[in-house]
Amino acid sequence: MDYKSYITVVEDWPKEGVKFKDITTLMDNGKAYKSAVDEIVTYAKEKEIDLVVGPEARGFIVGCPVSYALEIGFAPVRKEGKLPREVIKVDYGLEYGENVLTIHKDAIRPGQRVLITDDLLATGGTIEATIKLVEQLGGVVVGCAFLIELSYLNGREKLEGYDILTLMEY
Ligand code: 5GP
Repeated sequence: MDYKSYITVVEDWPKEGVKFKDITTLMDNGKAYKSAVDEIVTYAKEKEIDLVVGPEARGFIVGCPVSYALEIGFAPVRKEGKLPREVIKVDYGLEYGENVLTIHKDAIRPGQRVLITDDLLATGGTIEATIKLVEQLGGVVVGCAFLIELSYLNGREKLEGYDILTLMEY
């Protein structure tokens, strides 16, 4: 499927010079959204995953339907202060300042095979931080799946050694 035809590129958002890839127009088309999720489900089956982990908020949009289809769990990664029970955290650099991501301490059992999902791979910082959280809890990251890869930002370099699936490249 030509997924790119369902993505809206928004010029100068959230700031000047950025060409934001809006995935809501893909989600708005049920067939395109299902087809994209199905491709990730096929990949996840090959990887024999036990659990899906995704960072808020668009990692949920990609990851939750995958876990639903496979009848396995989904563990959310969230910004500090959002998860109600004991968490572990990791700091990661954003373009502007620092950010903190957290996951519940009991979200992953050691040895579980984990697929990480997000909508878009840019510099790789978000997923690098998510991988750290998963591995700190003893999870094995067997794959990372995204709708979109901005290959000119070289996020793959940060994720060397991990298997990556992307459905579109800019
Ligand atoms: P990274 O950490 O790889 O630099 O940035 C990826 C994160 O930023 C993802 O969680 C993604 O949701 C968000 N992001 C950055 N640029 C875009 C964009 O153009 N479109 C969308 N949908 N998300 C973006």
